[in-house]
Amino acid sequence: MYGLTKNTTGSKTSGLMWIIVTLSLLLSTNLSAQLTPERLDSSNRANNDAQTQREPVQIANNIWWVGHSEVGSYLITTSDGLILMDTTSTEHAPWVMESIKKAGFKLEDIKYIINSHPHEEHIGGLAQFKKAAPNAKVITTAGTAAIIASGGKSDFRNMLEGDAGADYFEAVKVDGTIGNLEELKLGDVTMVAHITSGHTPGATTWTMKVMDGGKEYNAVFMGGLSASGVERGPLLKNELYPEISDDFEASFAHLKTLQCDFYLYARASSIELDKKIELKKQGSAINPFIDPEGCKHYIDFYESRYRKQLEEEKAAQK
Ligand SMILES: [Zn+2]
Repeated sequence: MYGLTKNTTGSKTSGLMWIIVTLSLLLSTNLSAQLTPERLDSSNRANNDAQTQREPVQIANNIWWVGHSEVGSYLITTSDGLILMDTTSTEHAPWVMESIKKAGFKLEDIKYIINSHPHEEHIGGLAQFKKAAPNAKVITTAGTAAIIASGGKSDFRNMLEGDAGADYFEAVKVDGTIGNLEELKLGDVTMVAHITSGHTPGATTWTMKVMDGGKEYNAVFMGGLSASGVERGPLLKNELYPEISDDFEASFAHLKTLQCDFYLYARASSIELDKKIELKKQGSAINPFIDPEGCKHYIDFYESRYRKQLEEEKAAQK
């Protein structure tokens, strides 16, 4: 299991040691220790197809999950309107709209739409939101803007897959671009864009400060970090994205420097949303979404997966 260290004391382990080891295992069986590689590996498209609607979830004072059983969408509330992160797919964007209303907010109050990365399941509903939320400006990195403007057709993964029509979406021209470490301010909220390319060129990790229980925390919305395998995303000799490997390296290095308390991503399974909702219901003293270990495991998991793919590609070239 991820996050648990192996007991290497072997046969010499005394009864007392066993008790200590067992106790420490029990104590470490917290949320993040239960993150497993299988749960994080949510590239499985079946997850997307089998989705159901979900009630809106208040993660923190000014952060809501308005996504579905699996794919996420976040609403950030400010003193001057709303920021929406990710619309989810063409098929499911209407659910996000319903969820925003159920949470007590109006689509007209959305001032900005930002995103994690422009794959269809996260951004396919953008054109619908442009119509339904007329006051919203779409702000993305330049890399993301180019993919969105092509409706996904210029995405290297779609180009490599050939018959990728299912992953296309209605093209949208963004209203503005944001650079690495630049700020997006709305009312009392400042969000910082960290370009963490590799999964897509221009994938964006967003950070913001969050007040919870009278204390200030750092929230990190991860941008998508998986290496997509040699077929869909080669790391060496990728003519469509030659700097892919350098970008992944830079992203892992940068993400490790971030202060992360609230660990958020656009996948319920990745952040163990169900478990955290249950803990919150049970009246957990600490907000269960404060999960720095989850952040660390997320980065470590995808880095090790990336390194494995890189080694396999290098071996195949010999
Ligand atoms: Zn993706």
